This record gives sequence, C-alpha cells and structure tokens, in this order.
Amino acid sequence: MLEADLLIIDVNLATMDPAIDSPYGAIENAAIAIKDGEISWLGPRSQLPEIDALATPIHKANGQWLTPGLIDCHTHILFAGSRANEFEQRLLGTSYQEIAAQGGGIASTVTATRLADRETLYVNGKERLNSLLKEGVTTVESKSGYGLDVENEIKLLEINQLLSEHHPIDVHSTFLGAHALPLEYKDNSQAYIDLVCDEMLPLVAERQLATAVDVFCENVGFSYQQTKQVFERAQALGLQVKCHAEQLSNQHGSELVADFNGLSADHIEYLDEAGVEAMARGDVTAVLLPGAFYFLRETQLPPIELLRKHKVAMAIASDFNPGTAPLCSLRLMLNMACTLFRMTPEEALRGVTAHAARALGLGDRGMLKVGMRADLALWNISHPAQLSYQFGVTDLSNLWILGKLNQ
Ligand SMILES: [Zn+2]
Repeated sequence: MLEADLLIIDVNLATMDPAIDSPYGAIENAAIAIKDGEISWLGPRSQLPEIDALATPIHKANGQWLTPGLIDCHTHILFAGSRANEFEQRLLGTSYQEIAAQGGGIASTVTATRLADRETLYVNGKERLNSLLKEGVTTVESKSGYGLDVENEIKLLEINQLLSEHHPIDVHSTFLGAHALPLEYKDNSQAYIDLVCDEMLPLVAERQLATAVDVFCENVGFSYQQTKQVFERAQALGLQVKCHAEQLSNQHGSELVADFNGLSADHIEYLDEAGVEAMARGDVTAVLLPGAFYFLRETQLPPIELLRKHKVAMAIASDFNPGTAPLCSLRLMLNMACTLFRMTPEEALRGVTAHAARALGLGDRGMLKVGMRADLALWNISHPAQLSYQFGVTDLSNLWILGKLNQ
C-alpha cells in the first residue's frame, strides 16, 4: 500500500525529466504522491498503487498541468534605492556619461545600499521574493554585489541567510564582491581584487555565507586575470564559481569557468564556438538573461544554435537588478526567451526548472521525479507552452513547497 501525505490526481505532469520520452517529459492523466516533503510516486493514474483512501489527503486537479516549482538562478534582489530617475533622464536625452558624472549608475545603487539599514534591505528582498513566489518560483539565487566593501558585502550575505530562513522560497546565496569597482578604488582595480581575495572570500567561506562566487568579467568590469585570481582563491576555500561572461565582449570568462569546473557562465551574448566547446567539455550551464538583453536594447544574440549543437544546458533567469533588468518576473523571461532568443517553449521551461537547478548545482529539484523535493506548481493551462506564450494572466492555481501548500 502506498503511503502519502498528499496525492494529486486528475493531473497532467510536465516532469521535465529527460528519461521520459515525450515533450516536456509529459505524463498525461497522471497521479503524483508526496511523502515527507519529497515525491514518492508518480505515473499514469491507471498504474497508481493501492492507497489508504481515507487516510490520504487527495487533491483533484481537474486536468490542470503540474510542473516543478520554478527556479530563478540569477538575481540581484538585494539593493536599496531606485534608478527610475536615471531611466527618465536617459529618455529625456541625458547621456550615460553625464549621469555617471553626477554619481549615477551603479555608484548610486552602491551608495544607497551602503546607507540602507538591514531591515530596509530585508524588506526589499522579501517583497521581490513575494513577487516571484506569486509566479510559482520556489528557489531563488540571490547575489551580493552592491556593498563592495567588507562590511556591506557581508551585510548583504547575512540578509540572504535571514531570507532563506524566514521566506518560503529557498534562497541560495552567491558572493559577487567582484561586481563593480567601488569609487574609493577608482584607478586601482587590482587593490580591490586583492581585498576581495584576501579579506572578503575567507570570511564568506568561514562563515558559510555563500555557496558560490561570481565575477563580472568584462572590459568594463574585471579582467580575465583578475577573474582567475578570484576563482583560484574561491576554489581553494571550497566555493564553487560562476561568471557574468561575454555580455558586451568576448573576454573568455566562460572558458575560465570551464577550466575551474564551475557552475555557469551567464549572459554570453558574445561567446564564440571555442567558448561553447569549452563549456560543453567543462559541463558548464549557460544562463541566458533575456531581460537585460531587452532592457539594454542589445542586438547581439547569445549563440543559441551553437549551444544546441554542443548540447550545453541552457537556463533562463531574470537577472533582476536596478541598472540593466528591473524586471522581477521569471514568467516574463519565459516569454522573452522565446520571442527574443527564439528558444522553444520546452527549452524555456527546462531553463527555469531542470537546467536552472543544474546552474545552481542542486540535484534535488527541477524535475518531477521520485526522490526530488516536492516543490510543485499547478497551472490552470491547457498546454505547457502556455507558460511561455501568455504573460500577466493569473494562471497559478496552487503551489507546494516541500510538499506544503503555499496558497
Ligand atoms: Zn547579473
């Protein structure tokens, strides 16, 4: 007899499990059982083992579709202030250089974030997580990177920890001290990288404030050599690495991630075939960020066809941040992945489930499969492609996190 804390029946499953040979790993007219926060059984309804019908809570889904809880694997949700005024100034004709000269751009976010108290940052983070939760998101990666000094980078990572403890979404913390050069290190980027490596990274590792380390490797960010220095130190301290790479030019950051057996190379609009091959060899996930591409009105598309050809796993994320992607919606990214990057709806959904889990190194989620976390989203849709096709329609019926109903 099958024991379960919850049984969902009359449901269609988009399992996203590649072992199931159908689009979306779909099983129609299915059932799925949850026990102790994990998926304990799933399959066609006709094959459901005997259950104790009186003792088992049963949810009838009326033919709706169930997917894994969505995963936003690249965000910058912790910051204070707003750059709406700069957005407006730009549209009124002020140049980026003029705005930067007035202390605008990322410097204004860093100033506001340093000045903000912990409660403000916590509430900001919580509200952004709430927005994602409403869309069926159950796991979020959250980066530091607007503190840019020891005290404030640690402050952001501690807030990540608090959010992870108190918010229903499972928050995974990434240290991005090498996000931008703080003004006090202007013209001395090497001294700042040394600070990241010699002071910040050891603290992050010792206090287990992050599981991964990220670097913005770019001609307007940090060099290949500096990225390598951060990666070497991170790896020596037992932290995994990833990179904002090839967003505006090809600096070979993606190859560096591959050399370090890292998790992901993110953005990668300017990645070439050699870089794609390196990622395939190093088993690095490509994290594509259509929101930033859209907001910056970029025209250089990421090499989707090459990524397909070399079988590099593609994840999709919001990159929510105040400068280049103030778009706190993973559902919008599903749509943009299809409209802007010409990914298929199935690739897009895999990008926010199975491949997003992979980008975070999480082997316990992202698919509907026995033994996986019971993070489940039930959608009032007639086909899984609808999740990419329509946007702004309230179609999430139920969300379970670790088997517990969230709404
Ligand atoms: Zn980013």
